[in-house]
Amino acid sequence: MSKFSKLIQKQKEAKQTKKDHFNLEAKTNANRDVVLCACGSQKSYKVCCGVFHKDILKVQSPLELMKSRYTAYVLADIDYLLKSHHSSTRPTKEADEISAWTKAVTWLGLEIIKAEAPTTNEGFVTFMAHFLENGTKNTIHETSRFIKENNHWTYIDGVHS
Ligand SMILES: [Zn+2]
Repeated sequence: MSKFSKLIQKQKEAKQTKKDHFNLEAKTNANRDVVLCACGSQKSYKVCCGVFHKDILKVQSPLELMKSRYTAYVLADIDYLLKSHHSSTRPTKEADEISAWTKAVTWLGLEIIKAEAPTTNEGFVTFMAHFLENGTKNTIHETSRFIKENNHWTYIDGVHS
């Protein structure tokens, strides 16, 4: 079972009304260019993960891909989440559920714990992604594995800590 399925299941079990989140502003196109990027870089979205969301070939490392995927969760950019996922594990059928889940939670921040220099085709990033779900603070703590596919980095799988 993927981490999404588990998280989505938890979401369903909670059966609470989805509420607006304080990061909703960042989800509107008008604000995307000026707000600080959700990945924590202290740069604007436009010059940070926005660059990668427009063109995934610009991603130079597993760390950049990791951060851009976190920001895509915050923005509920499901197209990018699928595109940046290795085809062998891409959760295409779960896309609607992932979309509903990420819109229902409030993302609080990303902490990079470890990002080793990748080999030519494989790299690992350990991170903590914090979020509020139904008023409860939760964290995804994972070491993700990244593989190159179609000349760009993709997320393939991860081990939860
Ligand atoms: Zn960013």
